[in-house]
Amino acid sequence: MAMTAEFPSFKYHRDPIASGAFARTDSACSICGSKRGFKYEGEIFSQQDFEGVICPWCVADGKAAIKLNAEFTDPGASEAVSDRRFSEELACRTPAYTSFQGPYWPAHCGDYCCFVDYVGGDELRKLSSEVRDSLFEDLSSTFENMEEAMEALHREGSAVGYLFRCLKCEQHRLFWDCD
Ligand SMILES: [Zn+2]
Ligand SMILES: [Zn+2]
Repeated sequence: MAMTAEFPSFKYHRDPIASGAFARTDSACSICGSKRGFKYEGEIFSQQDFEGVICPWCVADGKAAIKLNAEFTDPGASEAVSDRRFSEELACRTPAYTSFQGPYWPAHCGDYCCFVDYVGGDELRKLSSEVRDSLFEDLSSTFENMEEAMEALHREGSAVGYLFRCLKCEQHRLFWDCD
């Protein structure tokens, strides 16, 4: 693959550079040996300890997951999706976002949703009221109302919201956890 190859796109993670799933590095990838300028910063579920560098390309094509016998997300800990190809792509070819309790992907329309961003009250207030109201279903077991949720969640705090969007119908979903 040429060094100028386009940054890979990830079906379930909209912008992994903006989200911090990939950070800048001068080091070569431990999997492919190339200096790609980026390394994976998220979770790695593997039997073996791994302290090396994984480039975005080796996440995208599954090489890193195969070589390390690793997953980046445990689909068993996410919402159920029946198509195993989707679970395989989520587990082995998708950079995870960073959370307190481990990455969790909601599902909608038979597939996993795409991770959009970390959110707190400030970000939720910027969404349209229609979108915001549609998110409350995901929060209603914990919060009395959206206002209470927006008070509690902070993009960089001890209770963080994780915003997702369905790839088919664009319904937003929200998951949150705390430290
Ligand atoms: Zn690589
Ligand atoms: Zn949907």
